[in-house]
Amino acid sequence: MRYVQIDTTADPNSDTQPSSMKQKDLSKVLVQELLEMGILDAELDEHGYVYATIPASSDKKVPVICFCSHVDTAPDCSGTNVKPILHKSYNGNDIVLPDDESIVISTKNHPYLLQRIGDDIITASGKTLLGADDKAGVAIIMDLAKYLIQHPEIEHGKVRILFTPDEEIGRGVAKVDMQKLGADFGYTLDGGDRGHLEGESFSADGCTIVFQGVSAHPGYAKNKMVNAQKVAAFFMTLLPSDTWCPEQTEGYQGFVHPVHMEGGLEEAKIQFIVRDFDTAKLAEYETKLGSMAQEAIDKFPGATYTLSVQEQYRNMREILDQQPHVMAFAKEAYLLSGLNPEIKNIRGGTDGSRLSFMGLPCPNIFTGEMGIHSKQEYVSVQDMEKAVEVCVNILKVCLKRYEI
Ligand SMILES: [Zn+2]
Repeated sequence: MRYVQIDTTADPNSDTQPSSMKQKDLSKVLVQELLEMGILDAELDEHGYVYATIPASSDKKVPVICFCSHVDTAPDCSGTNVKPILHKSYNGNDIVLPDDESIVISTKNHPYLLQRIGDDIITASGKTLLGADDKAGVAIIMDLAKYLIQHPEIEHGKVRILFTPDEEIGRGVAKVDMQKLGADFGYTLDGGDRGHLEGESFSADGCTIVFQGVSAHPGYAKNKMVNAQKVAAFFMTLLPSDTWCPEQTEGYQGFVHPVHMEGGLEEAKIQFIVRDFDTAKLAEYETKLGSMAQEAIDKFPGATYTLSVQEQYRNMREILDQQPHVMAFAKEAYLLSGLNPEIKNIRGGTDGSRLSFMGLPCPNIFTGEMGIHSKQEYVSVQDMEKAVEVCVNILKVCLKRYEI
């Protein structure tokens, strides 16, 4: 509840790293608290990353495990002056937020709440998001550190802690020093429901199509002018609206999604995001976009187009499948914590998707954060405690599996 009161909203319009300097306000507090626990190498670097080590309590040679979460909150909803409220022993009713009574966290819209009756629930007050995404993850890792320092009898290998800025604007791991991090594999704490374990994310490209028209004086344009806007508009009608788009897909289905369009007579540009769990499908989708663009210029003789593709991130499963122990340890740790691991895919990317391809295989563990990026955001204290237990058990499982 202390962490969410520090404003760490990321700024998508900034080129600095971190995107908003106020993110460091929380990171400084975290470093101070880690130092006070006795974690003496805790440091905040110039780019806004916190690195720290929980030293090994065993001599056994085991892999170095990293636990990672992000300090920033989403720019979609205000994160200024967050007033967290603790609802002790939640009774199953809708939660009306006091600072704006039109904001109600209802069990109808949030059926997960009904599974959390009796838990202590934290919400915001109605004017802001809560910031459980991902300060729940931060709190879990801080609690894990404190617990391990206070319980030296629990044998484990070296643990690295990483807190990142700017995850919400897709720049979370841009400046991570993997050498300095020095971990063999890791886990992000940024998932939702208790028991969910995410080992798969989208593969993602950006794609830009630019149509070129031919300009002419409108009074003397007959058989000369080709209006790029009209080519682009026709092209847009070729995109299906009942399949292959975000509003009509779920589960393992991919999509193409025009996110921005701008243009004039001479030139019109459409930007897409292209998503699928199967990386090979991205090229297929891009080829299909190309043939639709061709169909559009065929209809408007004289027009031309260019198509360019920018790789964004890849499905972390491609890496995790090569190192199956990373998911296996987590599954075993869930079972030891009395949870049935439910393996889920993320219809998006996480810091873990990028970290996996940077050499740190990194699935995502639940935190209990729900209703994220909104004023209805909430988190169960007991879900966070359960996640701490899972992390401790991951360390125990790892030590046991590497015992010879
Ligand atoms: Zn998050």
